[in-house]
Amino acid sequence: MNKRLARILLKLTRTGTVIRVDTRNPCVALTFDDGPNPDYTPQLLDILEQHHAQATFFMVGQTAAKYPDLVAKVVAQGHVVANHSWDHPSFPTLTGRQRRAQLRRCADVLAPHGQKLFRPPFGHQDPASRLDALCAGYEVIAWNVLAGDWRDWGADKILEKLAGKVQPGNIILLHDGLFSAAQHTSLDRTPTLQVVDQLLSEHADYRFVTIPELLKSGRVVRQPWFRTGDQRWLDGLKTAQALQGKMEE
Ligand SMILES: [Zn+2]
Repeated sequence: MNKRLARILLKLTRTGTVIRVDTRNPCVALTFDDGPNPDYTPQLLDILEQHHAQATFFMVGQTAAKYPDLVAKVVAQGHVVANHSWDHPSFPTLTGRQRRAQLRRCADVLAPHGQKLFRPPFGHQDPASRLDALCAGYEVIAWNVLAGDWRDWGADKILEKLAGKVQPGNIILLHDGLFSAAQHTSLDRTPTLQVVDQLLSEHADYRFVTIPELLKSGRVVRQPWFRTGDQRWLDGLKTAQALQGKMEE
């Protein structure tokens, strides 16, 4: 689709991308991308349960297809499961047909649990891909707080990035898995688990809620969110499977 036309359509439909909620209620949404992960997601569920916290999991369809029991467990514990595409491509690099297939295949795997929320892989989005999500009935959820937990950082550094960021209505991006990563990235999610435990302990005065719950707590803040990735950077990424030395499917 013509990009200018797409921008006008977005304006007419008032369809920005959700980045946070304007509210005075002390509630925050933790969001976890790229799972489910058989090693780390169960540990994360235990931590969340200990702190009576709920969260939203943006899952990759190809991974979710391998662990249906884990997907069901996430939902059974009161968390929300949502769409993060079939195999984590940068949507602006795809054709419309490919993008729609990515959304559909992931939704099929997450059914009947998945909600109509979509987070674009890498946060990459252009007007045409935003409209595809709109036509497929999805609310696109970005974030306003990120902690760089996909880098090889220890819990201390990630916590430093999050200092002062637990504020009413914020949407925090973290990862309980890594679907694709740069060559030397550690796939170990232990620092993220430590961060979540610490964050929840330090903010017992806050309610940690799912995205649908957060959206009901105040005025939803949307903004035009268009960003694409450097093609060479994208080409240099490997899937976690390849990084772990396993055969690609
Ligand atoms: Zn992702």
